Amino acid sequence: MFETRRMNDKNKVIVTAALTGAVTTKKDNPNLPTQPEEIIASALACYEAGAAVVHIHVRDEEDNASMRYDRFEEIVNGIRKTGCPVILNLTSSGGQGFSWEERIKPFKELKPELASFDAGTMNWLNSVVFMNEPEFLELCGKEMIAAGVKPEIEIFDMGMLNTAKYYIKKGIIQEPAHFQLCLGAPGGMEATTENLLYLVNHLPENSTWSTFGIGKGANEVMLASLALGGNIRVGLEDNVYYNAGQKAESNEQFVRRAARMAEEVGRSLATPEEARAILGLK
Ligand code: ZN
Repeated sequence: MFETRRMNDKNKVIVTAALTGAVTTKKDNPNLPTQPEEIIASALACYEAGAAVVHIHVRDEEDNASMRYDRFEEIVNGIRKTGCPVILNLTSSGGQGFSWEERIKPFKELKPELASFDAGTMNWLNSVVFMNEPEFLELCGKEMIAAGVKPEIEIFDMGMLNTAKYYIKKGIIQEPAHFQLCLGAPGGMEATTENLLYLVNHLPENSTWSTFGIGKGANEVMLASLALGGNIRVGLEDNVYYNAGQKAESNEQFVRRAARMAEEVGRSLATPEEARAILGLK
């Protein structure tokens, strides 16, 4: 049982590149892609470097966090037009204060294969409330089922995992579920191997999972995930530093490191096609 919970596929690793996010700015790292053409180019470069999934946020013309549909449409169509087979994962949060409709419309209309589902409300970075009220989560889950979009359930602490299990029981999230274990965000669990193992050991048995750490625990969590048979997420959404004191050059720089790490320990990168099979995407 223990083993089952730990395994997705022992040899294949799905690398997700989280390209932009809602929080980091070009002041934090000038290499952050924020405008549609930059995000499209970064997505393609990450695919070339080995990412099977790209997680996408949008910004407005001034680089502010946004859930503007036209920006999502431009980016999604721009990537699809190239024929790149990378799996698209659209955010359903995008920052703070967006309406339910703004949060749902991009995945509902553009039908990416994955979209994020944040399984609870938290004090985000000790500054604002990241609001995911029960009525919103129920609506979001139902709309994902209706659109044929698989939720990537983002978990920042153990309470959110329990909430996700509740929605699985209610049929608002279908099994097998896929989790993104997000560690190191102030307000959530710290990015440590101990915390990762605790969450992994409490996942529903037939689920798949990926993880990332923010800040100083980022590499520890990545290595622990490789050891445990999990998948990994990297990118400028989560970390502007490549190593302590060294700003990242690009998203693909993180992907290339993940690829090297995985290959050195005998795990090879899943292609998008292989990732679709592992995640049960149509
Ligand atoms: Zn995100």
